[in-house]
Amino acid sequence: MVTAPLPPLARTPDEWADVVRTWGGRPFHARQLFRWLHSRGVLAPDQMTDLPRELRTNLSGLELERAFSVVSAQRSADDTRKLLLRLRDGATVETVLIPGVTGGKSDLPSPVPPPLELDADAAAADDDEEDSLAPSNASVRVTQCVSTQVGCAMGCVFCASGVAGLKRHLGADEIVAQVVAGRSHLDAAERLSNVVFMGMGEPLHNYEATARALRLLMHPEGTALSARRITVSTSGLVPEIARLGTDFGGNVGLAVSLHAADDETRSRLMPINKKYPLPVLMGALRDYPLRRRRRITIEYTMVAGRNDDLAQASKLCKLLRGLAVKVNLIPMNPIGSGVLGPPPQERVLAFQRVLCDAGYSCFIRRRRGDDVSAACGQLALLGAKPKVRVDRT
Ligand code: SAH
Ligand code: SF4
Repeated sequence: MVTAPLPPLARTPDEWADVVRTWGGRPFHARQLFRWLHSRGVLAPDQMTDLPRELRTNLSGLELERAFSVVSAQRSADDTRKLLLRLRDGATVETVLIPGVTGGKSDLPSPVPPPLELDADAAAADDDEEDSLAPSNASVRVTQCVSTQVGCAMGCVFCASGVAGLKRHLGADEIVAQVVAGRSHLDAAERLSNVVFMGMGEPLHNYEATARALRLLMHPEGTALSARRITVSTSGLVPEIARLGTDFGGNVGLAVSLHAADDETRSRLMPINKKYPLPVLMGALRDYPLRRRRRITIEYTMVAGRNDDLAQASKLCKLLRGLAVKVNLIPMNPIGSGVLGPPPQERVLAFQRVLCDAGYSCFIRRRRGDDVSAACGQLALLGAKPKVRVDRT
């Protein structure tokens, strides 16, 4: 059987070595090339000054620069940046850069009295004391959110990607291309510190590409992110959660979109729950080989009148008992269909109170980049043309 050659940005240094050898090059040239692409974000062979001329000529034939183009870069008032990338086949995909927050600014009032908390940093790793970032002068840490599919097949009713439906999977090269593109949109004071697989698409429905992208992002000659600085978010694909745990030894951060604490409520919001109901999903979370001092992030998108009553909060406390988790409450971002929306702030705070009183770390996710449709669940709004009418002003 003839297999298609790997797209250039999907190749590891070892895989490049096989190609480079046929051009008369040496394995160390392959490592240099990988560094140009993944560590420096340089795709133009004529800028790869330490490579022999013949190799650069051969590389030109691959048309690396045609892997993607950035068709728009929007910056929101809070400095969140949304990049729209056009891929080789014309498909478009979004990625978001979210700078860390130094102050306690939030669009939700800080609840009093403490210890209720607001989580300013999306779902970035929470074990920063074990930091493994290389020393750098750039002081502002940036979390990048990447997409793994064009659209999504999971059909969650509150999500623009789900409403759009699945157009196609992204390749590993197209996932890491988002990080390569993001690098050139970082400010001088910024450095990439975390990558979250929380953009458009269900990463575990595209497991092979996601796993390869994880390996590429962790490769020491490339972006060199440690596994704990990467989080994969899933709507709950049970076999692939187990696979991820085995393949990466529990080192990759796991976020699970729960959104309800009983099967009836969850199935109404997320069709995937009919295939993998809560008892099965919770079993997979208990079995995830989590590293010491790590926690699974539980995402709970709050939808008014659907999953926001305090009885759900109490059920959630029960459901999560014994698991190492932190809970992120995400007031639903409007997606334009007009039917579903976020609960009032008081309800979100009351829900958080129930979880905090039961001893859970529970944060309310700030809405970042809302003015450029870069917030959770809005990523399909501009790029992928959802089937619903969008009434955004
Ligand atoms: N498919 C994966 C990852 C992408 S979605 C998953 O579902 O986990 C990333 C997060 O955004 C999920 O927790 C999802 O539930 C949430 N989300 C989707 N639509 C949203 C919306 N309209 N408002 C707020 N959060 C939303
Ligand atoms: Fe897909 Fe995640 Fe959106 Fe559900 S929430 S439709 S799984 S992207």
